[in-house]
Amino acid sequence: MSSGELKCSIAECKARLHEIDSMSLEELEKYTTKCSTCGNWILKDNQVADETYRKVSLEWAEAFNKAHMKR
Ligand SMILES: [Zn+2]
Repeated sequence: MSSGELKCSIAECKARLHEIDSMSLEELEKYTTKCSTCGNWILKDNQVADETYRKVSLEWAEAFNKAHMKR
């Protein structure tokens, strides 16, 4: 795991929270992975990071289920 890439700043997390609704499945997957890291340690006590991670992982799970139901 490369430690430089798997975290974003509070400002990035904050901006990301508003972008979630228009993200593709691939983007959702990417940020679910990325924000699981910043939510868990670097920004552990930050509510924005926690909120972003929870929303992005929920949206990803929904998009993933939808994509797989079509097949
Ligand atoms: Zn993040």
